Amino acid sequence: MSKTIEIAVFSGDGIGPEITEPTVKILRKLSERASSYILGFTDVPAGADHYARTGESLPHASLEIARRSDAILLSAMGLPNVRYADGTEISPQIELRKALTLFAGVRPVTVRAGQNTPLKMPEGKEIDFVLVRESTEGLFHTQGCGEVTENEARETLLITRAISEKLFKFTFDLAHQRKLAGRGPGRVTCVDKANVFRAFAFFREIFDAEAKKHPTLTADHAYVDATALWMVQKPWDFDVLVTENMFGDILSDLGAGLMGGLGLAPSADIGLDHAVFQPCHGSAPDIAGQGVANPFAMILSAAMMLDWLGFENESPEMRADGQRLREAVEQVVAQGATITRDLGGTASTQAAAEAVEVLMSLEEA
Ligand code: ATP
Repeated sequence: MSKTIEIAVFSGDGIGPEITEPTVKILRKLSERASSYILGFTDVPAGADHYARTGESLPHASLEIARRSDAILLSAMGLPNVRYADGTEISPQIELRKALTLFAGVRPVTVRAGQNTPLKMPEGKEIDFVLVRESTEGLFHTQGCGEVTENEARETLLITRAISEKLFKFTFDLAHQRKLAGRGPGRVTCVDKANVFRAFAFFREIFDAEAKKHPTLTADHAYVDATALWMVQKPWDFDVLVTENMFGDILSDLGAGLMGGLGLAPSADIGLDHAVFQPCHGSAPDIAGQGVANPFAMILSAAMMLDWLGFENESPEMRADGQRLREAVEQVVAQGATITRDLGGTASTQAAAEAVEVLMSLEEA
């Protein structure tokens, strides 16, 4: 019997609706062809444009739909010229992370043979690692309420045992899953600055305690500055990295750079009961409405969603569909014939997404 999975869809601002439409179309087609699951979609209003029209950026009803759904698919929200009264940008995605306690920001970094990357890749090497960014505390703890006087400004970094324990358990489980799937050796690296800050020594201690529970996996440590260097010098050596919120924010953009740009960088924000899947990029208002946005980061985020839902619902078919979808995007990128302007091609958003459909034999009969 098919299981129905409910997905809340935030199509958001700027290029958001343009990349959401082809992504949901692919998911619908996969669902129509699946024998063990059915995907249901609910469009949920939120974002800067919604705020400009209604005065609300994340309506209570939208949050409740998100809370009730099995997964949340989100494109990008925020527009530079629409701001709250205090001047800060509209970012309901950050509110969602806090409201749903999505502590694990999962940022995969992959560069396959043939893919354009600013790095000089040694023959036969590919990049395939995951950065897990704690997403609810760290240096973002005082976001929006740091103290500023005429001569001083202060923000507070918070690391809690409760969140760190959940984060590290999640990370080791992820490394275990990757090892089972043949995607990594089962190594977790804790990225910190424990040589300078006591808070990071605390972070590392909790990491080491969790590591002891996973004797089949390898655990090691690296300082964040050295990690930035190695991400450029030998990124193919990493498997799973876990770090604090601000360090993760910075390193994940470096990871997107390795992949050839934001248009290929997917992400997930995962908690114990909820998960949001969204591209790493923003709403790109400079290219909105032109039909040239790269849909791949969004489609890859949808592939991560299928993989996660398949794991949560014990559906091998959904996991396999997620993997096929990811591999189809990787193949289209490596072939290079149907890629968008940001990757050096001339394809439209629609043509790029259709190339993925063709590879997966999902096009209309
Ligand atoms: P945010 O702060 O919300 O993350 P941002 O201001 O850092 O957003 P983006 O909206 O991600 O930036 O855009 C940065 C640049 O990358 C812009 O020039 C934009 O056009 C480009 N860009 C972002 N996403 C895409 C995409 N999917 N396809 C093509 N170009 C993109």
